[in-house]
Amino acid sequence: MALSDLRGVERNEAGIEAALGILKQRFGERFQTGMAIRGQHAHTTTYIPTQAPDGVAFPESGEEVQEIVKVCAEHRVPVIAFGVGSSLEGHVNAPGGGISLDTSRMNRVLAVNAEDLDCTVEPGVTREDLNAYLRDTGLFFPIDPGANASLGGMAATRASGTNAVRYGTMRENVLALQAVMADGSMVTTARRAKKSSAGYDLTRLLIGSEGTLGIITSLTLKLYGIPQAISGGVCPFPSVETACQAVIATIQMGIPVARIELVNQLQMRALKNYSKLDYPESPCLFVEFHGSDAGVAEQAETFGEIAAEYGGGPFLWTSVAEERTKLWKARHDAYWASLTLRPGAKGLSTDVCVPISRLAECIAETEADIAEMGLIAPIVGHVGDGNFHTLVLMDVDSPEEIALAEKFVSRLNMRAIAMEGTCTGEHGIGQGKMGFLEHELGHGVDIMRTIKAALDPQNILNPGKILPAA
Ligand SMILES: Cc1cc2nc3c(=O)[nH]c(=O)nc-3n(C[C@H](O)[C@H](O)[C@H](O)COP(=O)(O)OP(=O)(O)OC[C@H]3O[C@@H](n4cnc5c(N)ncnc54)[C@H](O)[C@@H]3O)c2cc1C
Repeated sequence: MALSDLRGVERNEAGIEAALGILKQRFGERFQTGMAIRGQHAHTTTYIPTQAPDGVAFPESGEEVQEIVKVCAEHRVPVIAFGVGSSLEGHVNAPGGGISLDTSRMNRVLAVNAEDLDCTVEPGVTREDLNAYLRDTGLFFPIDPGANASLGGMAATRASGTNAVRYGTMRENVLALQAVMADGSMVTTARRAKKSSAGYDLTRLLIGSEGTLGIITSLTLKLYGIPQAISGGVCPFPSVETACQAVIATIQMGIPVARIELVNQLQMRALKNYSKLDYPESPCLFVEFHGSDAGVAEQAETFGEIAAEYGGGPFLWTSVAEERTKLWKARHDAYWASLTLRPGAKGLSTDVCVPISRLAECIAETEADIAEMGLIAPIVGHVGDGNFHTLVLMDVDSPEEIALAEKFVSRLNMRAIAMEGTCTGEHGIGQGKMGFLEHELGHGVDIMRTIKAALDPQNILNPGKILPAA
């Protein structure tokens, strides 16, 4: 099965030409058509070929987003929302050309309601910028994909990261959205209340819709108090299987881990070299606990005992902020560290997620596949959720290597689906995983097509993504 599906969106030359003229006149310097900037806005961080838009608009408000979408609707021109472009599956490609709508100038924090533990931001605010802004309030926003992504892009991909095992994903942490729909109208999906039973859940319809149903112009997000104490550390294991068994036991015992991340032996080698970590070159779990001083110490000790039952240890942990930061910086740099295992290669990142009881089996079969196919593909994972990544390192100029990588990824995705899991725990479908959606959701995909056709009858919002050609 070919992974990426680049078909299905015809160019509307006359409409594109008309829209380019109108937007250039209206936005001046804030509408760019240079090849370099167009190429950047379709950068795919992988081997999927770049399909550049015809122009890039930089709106500064929801009203300006409405103006752009109305022009595109009138001339039936694709409009592709763009955050920072860190998505991995060709999400921001423009297969039928059109306008990239870059939200980087919509980067204001609009309100922080500390007593309600929420805030409202524009979509171009990045997760690191938001946490820097919040620092003095004693609050933080926990969702942390490996890249410093925009919050609009994170909602649009239903992103998560190392903290999801405790704090959930974007699905659980967005209270409300404002979005511009395909006809240029603006919708508010919910209020600031923590719960609501008011009708269809439009917030969650837009979360994960990858810019295909609406363009998010503001987000109201849940915030959390920065924990009084944090402890964390690294625990080596004799094998990936024993590490996974320790994860399952930890979760089943109800120990409130905030992060529990698997790094396999090859990934550990890369991390040691890249981030100068002084740990054994064996499969390891990176673990973190949030709570009171006594609570995090107790949790760390209990985890150490569980790890020992599965042959793991010593579990070296610390509450010293600088040491923990170094560890998690290394974990977040895993992607870049992996690339050093094969200089010049590009990485194809996978992100299957399975019920946690199937995790050890899924990883073991995947490691066997990697060995049998002769691939270089380190594994790292948010294993507390049953989610793990392999990064297949390949020469993107070699059709044979691409074909082999696609075969591997296909087998991996189908394996996860067969284990009642998903082909994507957090990266989304984009162009790269369209071929797997029907295997995973069957008739559910027809319902998605009906929703898309009802909300975007001209198919102008990020066309050619998520839904395979019928
Ligand atoms: C090194 C690395 C590590 C990563 N680790 C993780 C990880 O741990 N967890 C994880 O979940 N992801 C991870 N990712 C993937 C990526 O960071 C996420 O998918 C992120 O949410 C994308 O945000 P962005 O701002 O880059 O969005 P973009 O790439 O710009 O856009 C992504 C999609 O969202 C749409 N979109 C963007 N903004 C809006 C908007 N305002 N309204 C509507 N649609 C919009 C776009 O049209 C596109 O379909 C990683 C990526 C890299 C490069």
